[in-house]
Amino acid sequence: MPAPKIAIVIPVFNEEAVLPELFSRLTALFAAAPDYRWEAVLVDDGSRDGSAGLIRARAASDSRFQLVELSRNFGFQSALSAGLARTGDADAAVTMDADLQDPPEVIPALVAAWREGADIVRATRRTRSETGLRRAGFDLFHSLYGKLTDYPIEPNTGTFGLLNRSALEAFNALPERHRFFPGLRAWIGFRTADVSYDRKQRAAGQPQQSFRRLARYAMDGLFSFSYLPLRLLTYCGLFIAALGFAAAVFYALRRIIGIETAPTGYTTLVTLVLFLGGVQLVGIGVLGEYLGRIYDEVKHRPQYIVKNKK
Ligand code: UDP
Ligand code: MG
Repeated sequence: MPAPKIAIVIPVFNEEAVLPELFSRLTALFAAAPDYRWEAVLVDDGSRDGSAGLIRARAASDSRFQLVELSRNFGFQSALSAGLARTGDADAAVTMDADLQDPPEVIPALVAAWREGADIVRATRRTRSETGLRRAGFDLFHSLYGKLTDYPIEPNTGTFGLLNRSALEAFNALPERHRFFPGLRAWIGFRTADVSYDRKQRAAGQPQQSFRRLARYAMDGLFSFSYLPLRLLTYCGLFIAALGFAAAVFYALRRIIGIETAPTGYTTLVTLVLFLGGVQLVGIGVLGEYLGRIYDEVKHRPQYIVKNKK
């Protein structure tokens, strides 16, 4: 029986500063665990630096390294999907960042958990390295997400982890375009185990995901896993309608028992109009978030385009 094959999927965007170290640490890992057939699937997500060239050169000299080159920058989630779809006959796929914040030295522990029977292994962070606004954003997202959805994700997990063959096939078969990996990994189910690790600082270079992009993933995560924003709108509408009804009854009764209502109430009127206008606009905005996503899904554009067909 051939040794089990493990593919390591790594999205890369402008990472020329870290790639040499990534290659050497992966090679060391491969050498330390010769019982497996290793493959590193590096997805170049339209890098504007020398990343693709570095990976190509590496792939030419070492067949365990593979380059999947996207035609432009499609974003981390799409690059990850592109890599996962190209794991071929691998028995398991490890998903990790290129910047070595997810240390390759943790991979043997992920593999061990898989060999002990887990279908999905999540690497959970004992410590986080983000600070300031990014950190506050992550915390806010996780607390909101936990409250809003039926498929909560561990607050201390990210992309880093392992999927066995069945989980990988389930993930690859998902048809949607707006993907939020940790949420979908929770949604597909399977037996899940956790392995904890210390999240490192970036080995070199700058973070490649802008705050805006992270905010967009957060919105994708929330809107694709929760109807609560829509439901809240309904509740809000019902509440305001009930208030309006009560006000109508109140004024009608005053008329009937003969208390004349003076033509004051300008302030009330303006307040009500502004308040209702605001609520309606927010409502349209929330509907728009869902509608935009539905539009993207029905367009059926691919999530990414691979430049180098192999
Ligand atoms: N990345 C990518 N496409 C992008 C942005 C980032 O493939 O458009 C990759 C990047 O090279 C890295 C991983 O996604 O391997 C995580 O990015 P980064 O370290 O910038 O994000 P953070 O650590 O803040 O989540
Ligand atoms: Mg990073």
